Amino acid sequence: MKFIPQEYKVKDEPMKNFIDKDEIWDFINNADTSTENVRAIIAKSIAKERLDLAEVASLVQTTDPVLIEEIKEGARELKRKVYGKRIVLFAPLYVGNLCANNCEYCGFKASNTTAKRVTLDEKQLIENVEALEDNGHKRLILVYGEHKKYTPEFIAENVKSVYKVKKGNGEIRRVNINAAPMDIEGFRTVKEAGIGTYQVFQETYNTEAYTKYHTKGQKSNFENRLTSLDRAQEAGLDDVGIGALFGLYDWRFEVLGLVRHTNHLEACYNVGPHTISFPRITDALDSNVSEEFIVSDEEFTKLVAILRLAVPYTGLILTAREPQEIRKEVLQYGCSQVDAGTKIEMGAYAEDAKKEQKLDSEQFQINDERSLADVIDELIETDYLPSFCTACYRAGRTGEHFMEFSVPGFIKKFCTPNAILTLSEYVEDYARPESVEKGWDLINRNLVDLEPKLKAKVEERLEKVKEGERDLYF
Ligand code: SAM
Ligand code: SF4
Repeated sequence: MKFIPQEYKVKDEPMKNFIDKDEIWDFINNADTSTENVRAIIAKSIAKERLDLAEVASLVQTTDPVLIEEIKEGARELKRKVYGKRIVLFAPLYVGNLCANNCEYCGFKASNTTAKRVTLDEKQLIENVEALEDNGHKRLILVYGEHKKYTPEFIAENVKSVYKVKKGNGEIRRVNINAAPMDIEGFRTVKEAGIGTYQVFQETYNTEAYTKYHTKGQKSNFENRLTSLDRAQEAGLDDVGIGALFGLYDWRFEVLGLVRHTNHLEACYNVGPHTISFPRITDALDSNVSEEFIVSDEEFTKLVAILRLAVPYTGLILTAREPQEIRKEVLQYGCSQVDAGTKIEMGAYAEDAKKEQKLDSEQFQINDERSLADVIDELIETDYLPSFCTACYRAGRTGEHFMEFSVPGFIKKFCTPNAILTLSEYVEDYARPESVEKGWDLINRNLVDLEPKLKAKVEERLEKVKEGERDLYF
């Protein structure tokens, strides 16, 4: 397998700006979109070879509807062949929305004086984690505004507190972070607290658009943000997530920017990003974003399929910013993680009553407000395998997405059995009565595909789950 485009291995230096906007536009403007070439690129990706920037440019420039459908079918095939049916579920937990920056698209921006500012204290944090555990969640991402209060030590303390919360059979087994970039020492501090992935989205890889939308605070420094995940790597935190906020600039440029960022991390550290996120801008209080680069549903579904083909071994994260129908469609193209039962109003998980979304205390609007139970029901009905697995991270198998992709049999040996086991815990402890039977049916259907020895081992563990044992994994 050929992974890292050689030219960047030679050229890229750690901690240096690697985005050359002319280079990206040259790739886009000179793309070869002939049918022959586009088909060859799709075939290359399905053969598990990573695409280079020229090839990704050809895909983003493809406008022929027949070829776009082939791109999507290619992504579906890669998903089917490599990743199987499993979808990992998580929830975001907004811990604090104090913010010194002024991102024009975000309800938390400093200039937004009407926004209600809240930072969960220890008690509130625990109450919210308990509420999430009561729903069945096992994986969280803690989200923060950018403020001097949210130091690495503060975040590390939060992480440790979250891991300690055990309610009934509930526990959080993996805590990821989405917060401001840190210095090397800071990244070390949060790593030591046991975080999973550290996410920093570049928002836009175009410097002009970046300057237009980030007018204040540390985040106004494009390079500081761009090199932040290099600092994470230097700190030994090699599990990082990148992302672009689609709608700030031309989506084609952003897709190439994400791939260029991937090339950089691979070239300098031999490890690509663990996950790629591709949020589309949604409405926010006092949002000030031009409509020039709004990404249509058609473009969005196409770009997700292209990202799948371009970086086939990285996890793709899809969030509740997208409405249910779009989520359903792009799941087919290889998104591996989705949030569910999402509430982004601070402290909202702990509040019983189902409330309407209020933009004065949220960062932006979400468009899929379904509960975790509803999302799981839909996944089961559409024959996906919902998973709460955290095994690789806890067993020290780092680079799990890479292994899923490149190690033959990895999915069958680890991911599917662990998905089955974590789903069985969910069904036993949290599923709605009417979903229990459907859950076990799905488990039984997935057991059939396992090789006999492994199947026997999984069945043995399923019996133990039924008897009350928890957290059994391979
Ligand atoms: N404050 C930190 C930062 O900016 O990186 C971390 C958290 S921020 C709350 C998480 C992400 O939400 C941002 O990186 C941005 O991509 C996204 N976001 C902000 N405003 C948004 C909006 N109006 N619609 C969709 N996503 C948005
Ligand atoms: Fe602050 Fe992050 Fe919102 Fe920007 S995106 S205003 S840094 S919370």
